[in-house]
Amino acid sequence: MHTDPELHRSAAARLADQDQQYTTNRRAVVEALIAAGAPITLPGLLQADGTLAQSSAYRSLSVMVEAGVVRRLVHVGDHAHFELAEDLTEHHHHLICEGCGTVVDVTLPDEVEIAMDQTFEAVAEAAGFTPNHHAVDIYGTCADCRVA
Ligand SMILES: [Zn+2]
Ligand SMILES: [Zn+2]
Ligand SMILES: [Zn+2]
Repeated sequence: MHTDPELHRSAAARLADQDQQYTTNRRAVVEALIAAGAPITLPGLLQADGTLAQSSAYRSLSVMVEAGVVRRLVHVGDHAHFELAEDLTEHHHHLICEGCGTVVDVTLPDEVEIAMDQTFEAVAEAAGFTPNHHAVDIYGTCADCRVA
């Protein structure tokens, strides 16, 4: 997967807003998240990039979650999954396996997104609420768990 230099500039800017630096380790964690191509747990990240040390990778993730560079997903299972913030990548939804905890990104057709936004706006506005964005995840059983 190619690495957009703009993404690294945005990451560095968001960290700078928090008086944090885009260190080599933080950049390596971002690279590993890009390479993973899907939400990944800390153990998964360490396995994918053998040069990352657990303590520094954990600290980098925490700092970058605070800075809005990384999004922490907590669904089912023991481990949180991490991915790059949606506004640094693209808007999407998740398929979450209730059996093994695997999380997969899925994008929906534009017309579905527009229809969902219209529905959510109507519901929100009826309650005097101003919606900014939505998050919809689909829970079920992944292909691997279905065979097992
Ligand atoms: Zn599964
Ligand atoms: Zn995702
Ligand atoms: Zn959506």
